[in-house]
Amino acid sequence: MHTWKVGIIGGGPGGLMTAYSLQKCATVPYTTTIFEAGTRLGGKILTNRFSHAGANYEAGAAELYDYSPVVDEDALRELVEELGLSVTPMRGSAVIMNHRVLSNLEDIRDHIGAGACGALSAFDRSAKDRISPHEFYNSDDPTGADADPTNRRFDTLLAELPEPGTRHYIQNMIHSDLATEPEKTSIVYGLHNYLMNDPSYMQLYSIAGGNELLPRELAARVRATKHMEHAVTAVGKGEDGKLVVTSTHHGHERHDEFDFVVVALPNNYLPSITYQGGRLAAALKEHYAHYDHPAHYLRITILFDRTFWRDALPDSYWMLDRFGGCCLYDESSREPGATHSVLGWLVGGEAAREMSELSDEQLIEAALDSLPEFLSHGRRFYIEGRIHRWVGAVNALPGGVIKRSLDRRHRPEPVEHPNLFFVGDYLFDSTLNGVLDSAGYVAEWVAARMTETSGA
Ligand SMILES: Cc1cc2nc3c(=O)[nH]c(=O)nc-3n(C[C@H](O)[C@H](O)[C@H](O)COP(=O)(O)OP(=O)(O)OC[C@H]3O[C@@H](n4cnc5c(N)ncnc54)[C@H](O)[C@@H]3O)c2cc1C
Repeated sequence: MHTWKVGIIGGGPGGLMTAYSLQKCATVPYTTTIFEAGTRLGGKILTNRFSHAGANYEAGAAELYDYSPVVDEDALRELVEELGLSVTPMRGSAVIMNHRVLSNLEDIRDHIGAGACGALSAFDRSAKDRISPHEFYNSDDPTGADADPTNRRFDTLLAELPEPGTRHYIQNMIHSDLATEPEKTSIVYGLHNYLMNDPSYMQLYSIAGGNELLPRELAARVRATKHMEHAVTAVGKGEDGKLVVTSTHHGHERHDEFDFVVVALPNNYLPSITYQGGRLAAALKEHYAHYDHPAHYLRITILFDRTFWRDALPDSYWMLDRFGGCCLYDESSREPGATHSVLGWLVGGEAAREMSELSDEQLIEAALDSLPEFLSHGRRFYIEGRIHRWVGAVNALPGGVIKRSLDRRHRPEPVEHPNLFFVGDYLFDSTLNGVLDSAGYVAEWVAARMTETSGA
């Protein structure tokens, strides 16, 4: 029987999940080759370590979303379990505003006033009426009930709130998850980022020992030739109709032929590849433009001598009213019994883009300055800081303004390139759950086409 050749471009979560899913559903012989531009697999799931104290922290993806308590299924949670990884639940419900921790409705009322608090409760009710937990989970369906036919932006909804205090509270609460400004995203995506804070919609967890164990375990199980430090520069079609992938490795160019190619890259990397042939080039230009809604992150992570915040802040994370609203993670809470003390600031949106221009030292100083007054003594316990810039690395309007059919999202040029597929979180919801759905969809499609064409 013919052995099919599958090429996967990108060794991030999307590429590895595609290879792993294909391994589970393919029924005919095939080989896989993964091209990864960098020196490591895992992409934006990156668990780093401070040189002092051997303390781990997440430099990229911070948390995983579990829908299974709500809808009884969750492909990512099932994958994590299948890979034998242990998890640590994460929780956080407080917003720190004007140096005060607002943990419940009473705190919020005291702080923003009864009128603004009432408006917040009304906003909460209407968000929940509009999108149920099941609708949230199924929102990637282009015919989903939560689609907004007016395509209004989220800022127009916030502007309808009668009290500025309510608006300010909501913005601080969701800015870091959104990674963009309300005027750059849809009402539905804004509401999703508001509702995700409610445990009746999803629960958060991280992987004990570091989120990077997820791609590492996938890589260990995937049977594939892994071409590391091979940046793909072009994809096209050879004279015999096969797909040709051109890559460079330390200045040397190579060309490999495949029956199927999966481009598993985030939208911002797509233009780094030349798509050969008029029809393919035009289709990819249009595909890229549809999803071109860049959003930004910046991580500032600081190792301290002690966990000086624990008495006041016992959760895994809080939202802080600095840098347009950022998330402050207790990185050391990810490992039960950890002896190190690490706080991580996840800055999103325009603040992240602008602040990325600053030096590491300036950013560390800005983070220390942002500590609320009741924690300001903590700066004297500073040991070391690390910066990770993620400008343009995520999506402000995943799925684009108007959602497309799943087939069109994953195969932008079906006429001359029916075996060229695309996988990415930007096609769904800009999360690891989304990129897994995308990878699973393409893997099943490729497996079916291999079987059909083999006549098996
Ligand atoms: C700061 C930050 C926080 C996040 N937090 C969360 C979170 O809490 N929860 C969540 O679910 N998601 C989160 N995300 C999103 C999550 O990281 C992505 O959904 C996920 O990494 C997407 O995987 P990917 O494989 O599509 O892309 P990537 O992770 O970007 O991987 C792409 C890979 O392709 C390689 N590559 C690029 N160009 C080429 C080329 N030309 N040839 C070959 N290889 C190439 C890159 O080196 C990289 O390894 C976060 C992202 C960021 C930046």
